[in-house]
Amino acid sequence: MGIDAGFDMVPRLSNGAVDRHNWQSFIKLIREHYQNDDLVEVKPNYLEFKAGEHPLLPFEGHKFLRFSSKTSGSHAKGVEEYIYTVTRVAQASFGSRVRYWNEACDEYGFYSWPEVHESFESYEQRDEPVIPTTIAQFVFGCDPLAELNLDLFEIKSLPDKGRALVARFNIAKGKRILCEKPLFTTENLSPITLMESNIATKLKTLSKTEQRQFLSLHNNFPGKHPFSGIVKTNALPCGPGAVTSGVYPTICLINHRCLPNAHNNWNSDLQRETIHAIQYIRAGDEITIPYDQGGSSSSRRTYLQNAFGFDCTCTLCSLSPPELESSDARRVQIQLLDDSIGNPDRVLNKPSDSLADGHRLLQLLDEEYQGSAGALNAKLYYDVFQICITHGDLARASVFAERGYKARVVCEGEDSPETRKVKELMGKPEGHGNFGVSMRWKITKKMVPKGLDDVEFDKWLWRQGR
Ligand SMILES: [Zn+2]
Repeated sequence: MGIDAGFDMVPRLSNGAVDRHNWQSFIKLIREHYQNDDLVEVKPNYLEFKAGEHPLLPFEGHKFLRFSSKTSGSHAKGVEEYIYTVTRVAQASFGSRVRYWNEACDEYGFYSWPEVHESFESYEQRDEPVIPTTIAQFVFGCDPLAELNLDLFEIKSLPDKGRALVARFNIAKGKRILCEKPLFTTENLSPITLMESNIATKLKTLSKTEQRQFLSLHNNFPGKHPFSGIVKTNALPCGPGAVTSGVYPTICLINHRCLPNAHNNWNSDLQRETIHAIQYIRAGDEITIPYDQGGSSSSRRTYLQNAFGFDCTCTLCSLSPPELESSDARRVQIQLLDDSIGNPDRVLNKPSDSLADGHRLLQLLDEEYQGSAGALNAKLYYDVFQICITHGDLARASVFAERGYKARVVCEGEDSPETRKVKELMGKPEGHGNFGVSMRWKITKKMVPKGLDDVEFDKWLWRQGR
């Protein structure tokens, strides 16, 4: 026996956009409030308060009827504060729909216990995610599902791979899977004792949960300097070529593949690392990003072994010898072309050759990455944009900027500074600093031909047959 207290949601929430959004905002507030509380655990489908009778808050609000617990007796220790706070936040979010009751005052819940237990059971089975409508995104200015990224993946232990991120649902190409703040950022310092003490100082400022998250990450360099080892194994640079890198509780669990299905990017505006699906990912598939620096399978494997301590056995590295040889030849060629395409002398004096290299690179990327070259495509389009703008060709420059923008949105989202930069150039290519250096190919933006089929248009775009 004991006295129950808590609240019921009357009437219950619908699964419509407004109720869904309000519930997710409410859950977000609760999560933020308790983010450093080890007794409030984030489960795949609900928040569990590990006190009293372990009341739950499901992530799908339309299933919710009651949040309550026995508040007296030996099992009730510490639960009253949770009941009180969660009720107060719920009242602020849902007003009189939140009906507080306390048996000590002869008040009883609205729903019957069989109904309530049935609702608890329904928490375990997730509905298919409701794709937010454009209107909902417009009204709320955000994607309601994106606020709870737990909707899209779960963390699983895979044989031989340790923890990994696995898609819970089918994920569309271009969808943001994660947007995560680093636990901390750091530089590679030497001597290593300095790095170790520097990280130790940073760790002290973190919550217990965050410290545990950091210490649970894989360390490929065990020994006298465990903190530096974890950082070296897991840190991701904050942007291409950056000296600072970040360590993340979830993103650092994403494994490598030489043909990955996701892209990681440092968004300097948000000061967060984002993960986007660069191809359609099926429910149950592992979410992967590349750790390698390109090149042939042997150079990738050597690098991965030295830097991360594993031998890559991904589908690409496990191809039959003749297939692997073709892939290696493409990858080596991709690296060579990628290096040569930006050579300023060549861009200035032999732009036709540079542009032809760009076209060849695009074909190789398509063959090698089967349409999921992601950021490599975005970079390529920006390079060929620069060739055209350097020689005054505003028509082709605007088309390449548009293609670059589309590739960039898939990998980084609309809010990435790089995406916004290339979007601006799409509308105003002459805003680029190289415009006017030469007028060898001078034409206006209006000269983009109309009515051509794709093949003819591409011939024009890449200046073939000239
Ligand atoms: Zn591999």
